[in-house]
Amino acid sequence: MSETTAPLVLRYEGEARSIVHCRAGALDELGTLLRGLPGRPLRRAILCSDERVVGLHGEPARCALAAAGIVVERVTIPAGEEHKNLATVASCYREFAALAVERGDLVVALGGGVPGDLFGFVAATYLRGLRLVQVPTTLVAQVDSAIGGKVGVDLPEGKNLVGAFKHPELVLADEDLLRTLPEAEWIAGTAEVAKHGVIVDPQILEWLESDPGGWRRRAVPLGPILAAAIAVKAGIVQEDVLETGTRMYLNYGHTLGHAVEAAAGYGVIRHGEAVGWGMAMEARLAEAVGLTTEGFVGRQDRLLRNLGLLAPLPALDPDAVLEFVYRDKKVREGKIRWALPAAEPGACVVRDDVPVDLVRAVLERTLSEREFTTFRQT
Ligand code: NAD
Repeated sequence: MSETTAPLVLRYEGEARSIVHCRAGALDELGTLLRGLPGRPLRRAILCSDERVVGLHGEPARCALAAAGIVVERVTIPAGEEHKNLATVASCYREFAALAVERGDLVVALGGGVPGDLFGFVAATYLRGLRLVQVPTTLVAQVDSAIGGKVGVDLPEGKNLVGAFKHPELVLADEDLLRTLPEAEWIAGTAEVAKHGVIVDPQILEWLESDPGGWRRRAVPLGPILAAAIAVKAGIVQEDVLETGTRMYLNYGHTLGHAVEAAAGYGVIRHGEAVGWGMAMEARLAEAVGLTTEGFVGRQDRLLRNLGLLAPLPALDPDAVLEFVYRDKKVREGKIRWALPAAEPGACVVRDDVPVDLVRAVLERTLSEREFTTFRQT
């Protein structure tokens, strides 16, 4: 594995582009990198974070900005998905107004997917758009939510129902920031990394398989795997900015994962853990419709379990889960569009002809057994 340090440049339609720096220590360069961006010289940055992250990484971020002569203001929200809503957005707008934030000011969203999505939405809408930089501090945020420009908040009726596309000028994925992440958050984020391996880049799977315990303990070089996982998301979103084609691939594990997460009641199972189970179940669908080669289901199960995923599920009613599946936004004219692994790892196909009875059978089997150790192949 070699360290990748060259920045990725993501180009979207029109002028939009994001530069992604993926390397240890990148946070220290935040101010210098901002100074190097094209456009009018930056005067002021609004350092936006959640209460937990600001205590861990806020001061180094502030110092990196101040050292480059940038005036720094702070806006902080409480940590947690339950605060990713319009009420929090409104309170941020009020704080921005009190700080007399101007069009030329720049929002630095420091944190996981919650501050990233919420402050990205604030940046997309306040004064009809402010400049934005993402500094993701969770694994989910580094390999997934900070890349691709989707920002937004939840409604009581559902997650991420209000949002916008807002491409950050810069994304700093600094692996050092992940060292303080609790183990459960690390494991949850690992599901997205493994997913990127299955759908596009088999090298990621091989790296993870070579030392899953080391990855779990964060005792292997993280940089190359992070860079590869980021490159997968970056490649897909550039190809399909508005989510009409290949971006569907990113939904692998998410159709059943979301449904399991929702049926359990949000907050009971972490999103990433649910995605791990979603991958295990959707791989069985792929096998049953003749897509994957023999052995893939077992290989993926083994890897997910060794990475700390596929922990026992709570008791769930398969019909209740199925109901959530059909409510999903990936349903078109009553047909579910499944992103499923293809014959060889590293490829994906979208199918809308998976029989509902098969989905029910896989759900029933999984949910009646609930534990990986007794989870047999369908
Ligand atoms: P999160 O931001 O809530 O972070 C999880 C927890 O980890 C929080 O308590 C946070 O304070 C803490 N934390 C963050 N960084 C830390 C660090 N370095 N050290 C210690 N603790 C730290 O959630 P998440 O898992 O990062 O992201 C989930 C959110 O991302 C969801 O709202 C989901 O909808 C969204 N998401 C968005 C996209 C997208 O494309 N926009 C993609 C995937 C997920």
